[in-house]
Amino acid sequence: METDTITAISTPIGEGAIAIVRLSGPEAISITTELFRGKNLNEADSHTIHYGKIIDPQTEEVAEEVMVSVMRAPKTFTREDVVEINCHGGMVAVNRVLEIILSRGVRLAEPGEFTKRAFLHGRIDLSQAEAVMDLIRAKTDKAMSVALKQMDGRLSGLIQKLRQDLLETVAHVEVNIDYPEYDDVEEMSHEMMQRKTKEVHKEILDLLNVAKQGKILREGLATAIIGRPNVGKSSLMNTLVQENKAIVTEIPGTTRDIIEEYVNVRGVPLRLVDTAGIRETEDIVEKIGVERSRQVLKESDLILFVLNYNDELTEEDVKLFEAIQGLEYIVIINKTDLEQKLDMEKVLEMAEGNPVVTTSLIEEEGVDELESAIAKTFFAGDIDTGDLTYVSNVRHIQLLKQSQKALEDAMEGIELGMPLDIVQIDVTRTWEFLGEIIGDTASDSLIDQLFSQFCLGK
Ligand code: GDP
Ligand code: ZN
Repeated sequence: METDTITAISTPIGEGAIAIVRLSGPEAISITTELFRGKNLNEADSHTIHYGKIIDPQTEEVAEEVMVSVMRAPKTFTREDVVEINCHGGMVAVNRVLEIILSRGVRLAEPGEFTKRAFLHGRIDLSQAEAVMDLIRAKTDKAMSVALKQMDGRLSGLIQKLRQDLLETVAHVEVNIDYPEYDDVEEMSHEMMQRKTKEVHKEILDLLNVAKQGKILREGLATAIIGRPNVGKSSLMNTLVQENKAIVTEIPGTTRDIIEEYVNVRGVPLRLVDTAGIRETEDIVEKIGVERSRQVLKESDLILFVLNYNDELTEEDVKLFEAIQGLEYIVIINKTDLEQKLDMEKVLEMAEGNPVVTTSLIEEEGVDELESAIAKTFFAGDIDTGDLTYVSNVRHIQLLKQSQKALEDAMEGIELGMPLDIVQIDVTRTWEFLGEIIGDTASDSLIDQLFSQFCLGK
């Protein structure tokens, strides 16, 4: 494959004592050598690190003291020659080094381009490549760790196992048909086929279940703050934004890193509705009526419903309570620094077991409790990304659903006692859908695959 040499700063911009400039491509080592004063890198062994200085070749001026790692193809992330230049001098120095490299005709990498190369060179599969792209968009630490897990090939591993199970099933039926005289191979029964498809079906459903959580981690909980005018909605929004430093994530491997701000409450990313949205929901019931307001609220993953401790429960409060029936909400009774006028018993009764938290936002009281409640509501405490394989990619979810559907068609056929060579058409479709997740093209003839997989004995 013909490629040019690309470069980018591959560490987060801003903080961090060390910044790394990475180069990948056929000229990575020779170009660095021209700029490096130290060992002759052209002669350096693969996977060695060298101390020296980067100079500006035009002026011979020293730009930065560096440690340079030399990694030769193919045992690198991109499977091309890779050089990593470790700078300690902060952003100014690292940018200077990057500029010097760019001035030598090396191209600035596009976002995700190192990863794309890794994929194109067969270093990682499609789902792993997509996981890296998700990583680029990851907004919280947790979403990041999900993406990293997927990149590890966990999802790929699981999908491969499911496909293998299906393939063995299909091959088994095939062998029964093509080699009826071959007694060593037990006849595939409807029961056996049912058991195998059920197993795979359950695993697909499990994956789809965790997909929902994955989506939340990636996109954040759509959170609406509602309540009558003046109860403290804007104050709540400001408190949440100030208390929880918005997480800033940069794209590894690029300089034009996408920087996004998100409110991260104890690992739960909240996508708070904007001020305009709040305005709209303020008198939402009055303005658009109960039915339509229900619709708007239904689109939220979490509702923060603010009441005034210093006011009696009004008819409007009750209407809002009714509008959020059955949805995920937390009641926040604000202004506890003022005199109590609110009937707490009544509120607890109306909340029907949903969390009720008291706050004085003006005195910064009760905010911890509120944050705990938010975390508990969705993740029953704290989500553990340790054991689960998350699926958070829309394309993967789509293909999993198609796999599920195809497999259910097969299961229905088995149930109806249809001949297994008919049933296996749907099993094969399932196998193909799953294959698309990991970018294993269905173009390879299934029969070739079958016979390389299934040992016919002789
Ligand atoms: P919103 O209309 O629901 O968005 O309410 P705001 O957040 O704009 O607050 C309305 C007024 O209530 C402002 O003057 C706030 O300073 C005040 N306020 C907010 N929280 C508290 C609180 O906990 N105690 C007291 N005493 N006043 C508060
Ligand atoms: Zn407001």
